Amino acid sequence: MHIGLFGGTFNPIHNGHLKAVEEVQKGFSLDESYLIPSALPPHKEQKDLADAKNRMEMIRLAVASCPALMKSVTVSDVELKRSGPSYTIDTVCHFKSILPKDSRLYLILGLDAFLEIDTWKSYMDLFMLTSFIVIPRPGTGSSDRSIILKSIENYLKKSISHGYNYSFSQSCYIHSDKQPVFFFDVSPINISSTKIRKLINQGMSIKSLVPEKVEEFIKTKGLYL
Ligand code: ATP
Repeated sequence: MHIGLFGGTFNPIHNGHLKAVEEVQKGFSLDESYLIPSALPPHKEQKDLADAKNRMEMIRLAVASCPALMKSVTVSDVELKRSGPSYTIDTVCHFKSILPKDSRLYLILGLDAFLEIDTWKSYMDLFMLTSFIVIPRPGTGSSDRSIILKSIENYLKKSISHGYNYSFSQSCYIHSDKQPVFFFDVSPINISSTKIRKLINQGMSIKSLVPEKVEEFIKTKGLYL
């Protein structure tokens, strides 16, 4: 089984997240992916953070309105059930412990998040436990594939291990005793949750940035005003 784990604040979930998970699922033939909202993100400001239950509900509504995701994407409340900050290492260990032994985990994350992974708790252990699928994040640096690959390589060598090298036959960075790191070019969608919160706060429309059901939910609950 090939399993994708896509964590985030999802404050709120948007079409950039949805398109990315859809394309990664297809590109890597993943059997299942989990969308995992964090309860207390260790790296983000919390002033605009919607209640975890509301963020979770918006993810449910978004997945339910996406035919391509309905069958193969599960919304996980594992981080919401844990107390304290939501550390990815704890989440990866959780999935390792509940999935069949031969499952292969892929942590899906944007380039912006990947390039600061050395600030995450027990990040070196992550490289032993899960493969990575890094996706481009429009608006962060260059959109040129070879420049992005170079930045990933420099970062891996400097902050993780000199032993990472690009394998042209496997199209990823490989290491003798760590898990591979893939870069996967999803269609660029320049949306962020920050932009959505700002638009709502300014009374502007967020149509086409989030699924209709999510937009309705935000309006009904009066979120991000
Ligand atoms: P915020 O603007 O509040 O910081 P965000 O839009 O970055 O939020 P997160 O929930 O923090 O959303 O993101 C979860 C993951 O999704 C991260 O790995 C992030 O890099 C990735 N991501 C977010 N938006 C996009 C996008 N438009 N395209 C590709 N990846 C994205």
